[in-house]
Amino acid sequence: MIQKTVCHTVDLIPSLYYIAAVVDPVEPDNVLRVLEEHADYKLTTVLTTHHHWDHAGGNDKLLKKQPGLTVYGGSDQVQAVTHVITTEDTTLSFGSLTIQPYLTRGHTMEHICYYIQDGDNKVVFTGDCLFSSGCGRFFEGTPTDMDGALTKLKTLPGSTKVYFGHEYTVANCRFALTVEPQNADLQQKLAWAHRVGCTTPSSIENENLTNPFLRVHEPTVRQAVVQRGETASALTDIEVLGRVRQMKDNS
Ligand SMILES: [Zn+2]
Repeated sequence: MIQKTVCHTVDLIPSLYYIAAVVDPVEPDNVLRVLEEHADYKLTTVLTTHHHWDHAGGNDKLLKKQPGLTVYGGSDQVQAVTHVITTEDTTLSFGSLTIQPYLTRGHTMEHICYYIQDGDNKVVFTGDCLFSSGCGRFFEGTPTDMDGALTKLKTLPGSTKVYFGHEYTVANCRFALTVEPQNADLQQKLAWAHRVGCTTPSSIENENLTNPFLRVHEPTVRQAVVQRGETASALTDIEVLGRVRQMKDNS
């Protein structure tokens, strides 16, 4: 998220720097260290996914060290927020980048995912809404809320890189295999995740193949949650999503 910009200093000698944004800077010291190492970067913007301390809890400290930052978030609950986003109608411009906020309630009611495009490059920061082969708990929202949020994400272009809020991929794949034991993509992903440790970024294409919370329409996932006397195909996607989440919460 950088864009080189011409900056005229008071003595009118132009200097060049890159503007930078950061998502959920919960460890501001690390952000500040990187900025010190790259003096040609100027941090201007904070994108906050939701109000939980492990995502928004570094905003105050970062603002103290870097006054004047623009801080986006979904509500006044977000620490140090300066711009509250309540609609998807406004696209944010950031240099050559376009930032599309998606209202993705479910984990919290003010959760936002940020879909960012730079030419052909597309990334989405998903906070605690979508994880690799998993999703966040429904702390504030309902299965209906989360179904709406996940539907927005799973219909993004398959090549979109997914930057998620927590590295839970091994545990998520293990659970997902209890839902779909025969899913070969999932089996391969678990072995890969064990090997590499850090699995970020994922992609929308891979999530659609391996994430049971995005696969609620699949007969295999439906069969895993159907109860005696029910027909799997008669369940709604929202019912399936709620039941898979319950299975995960109880696992
Ligand atoms: Zn959270």
